[in-house]
Amino acid sequence: MASIRSERIPPFIVMDVLERAKELERAGEEVVHLEIGEPDFDTPQKIREAAIAAIERGETHYTHSLGILPLREAIADHYNTRYGLSVSSNQVIVTMGTSHGLLLTLCSLLDPGDEVILSNPCYACYPNFVRYLEGQPMFVPVCAEEGFAFQPPSIQEKISPRTKAVLINSPSNPTGNVLATDILQSIGQLGPYVISDEIYHGLVYGEREHSILEFTDRAFVLNGFSKLYAMTGWRLGYIIAPPGFVRPMQKSQQNLFICASSVSQWAGLAALTEDHSEIPQMIATYDRRRKVMIKGLRDLGFGVAVEPTGAFYVLADARGIGCTDSYRLAFDILEKAKVAVAPGIDFGTNAEGFLRFSYANSLENIEKAFPRLEAYLQSCDSAGGIAL
Ligand code: PMP
Repeated sequence: MASIRSERIPPFIVMDVLERAKELERAGEEVVHLEIGEPDFDTPQKIREAAIAAIERGETHYTHSLGILPLREAIADHYNTRYGLSVSSNQVIVTMGTSHGLLLTLCSLLDPGDEVILSNPCYACYPNFVRYLEGQPMFVPVCAEEGFAFQPPSIQEKISPRTKAVLINSPSNPTGNVLATDILQSIGQLGPYVISDEIYHGLVYGEREHSILEFTDRAFVLNGFSKLYAMTGWRLGYIIAPPGFVRPMQKSQQNLFICASSVSQWAGLAALTEDHSEIPQMIATYDRRRKVMIKGLRDLGFGVAVEPTGAFYVLADARGIGCTDSYRLAFDILEKAKVAVAPGIDFGTNAEGFLRFSYANSLENIEKAFPRLEAYLQSCDSAGGIAL
């Protein structure tokens, strides 16, 4: 029999939607994918070339458990240049994606029963990671009218002697919220460690984003190459940790994973050290799609109280069109309209009645989704409303 831990971990519902959509596609249907948070762009050319060159040079062995030194230095340089910091490469641990970085971070912080403060809604996997390690997620509701921004006074109220960390994510999945400087500053001063998932840094369409390390040293930065560099399949990320945590994390890394992929690490080095004309083009393209997505959703009757300005998601309010069960609605839309979207409930109880639309898909596909959604909603209206 499978362990209680593995029986209890809930599915990542977005993946269930994606897998059902793929089944429909195998049966000959054409589905518009607005569910997954994965860039539709190819990895920039110089990054691909660097990986091929690494293979040709024979860089196909285990690396240092903390990562290859030039990459660790490039990561420290990147943070120091972009955010005006003085991070040392000794604080950098290279991981197989941000997910792996979060696991190592929580492994180094949590004993059973320890608490991690999260926003509700938040990235679907966060509470599952915490529970998997026998920690306790403590949720702070954030609301659409404030752009889903995490508010420091509400975090303060949740702090207890068991609080080990506050986990923040700006720009955010699923809300697209970018936290303002004063909010980040206050969160940095609350006391507990801050785990800052900065994976969507660089993908902003308004005011620039800030790193938590500009405001406090008591922080773990998680970042990765999946989103900005369109490198989801390369499985590459990193942690910037307070110095005292590096050795404990290194020991977990050695035992559990040995190291990140050597080829991907050389590719990551090229991502940070070469110029890529593709990246600004991708950002400009996401911004165009963002505007089309917001307008299209509002025209259909979805609520977008505050326009998201980061990542590539819109968490749209479907309560006005009668949604009370976002899980059933998302699957019903998939079956009937052949548009794949993520149900709000995946991201927390406070996003029930919402649907998350990803604009990491072409404008052509986004525009194809609207008439399908319109027809779906009209058919619901003629049947007396969304019967969910
Ligand atoms: N954090 C957030 C907020 C994400 O949206 C994702 C990907 N969906 C991850 C972490 C995991 O990314 P990676 O590919 O680096 O593991």
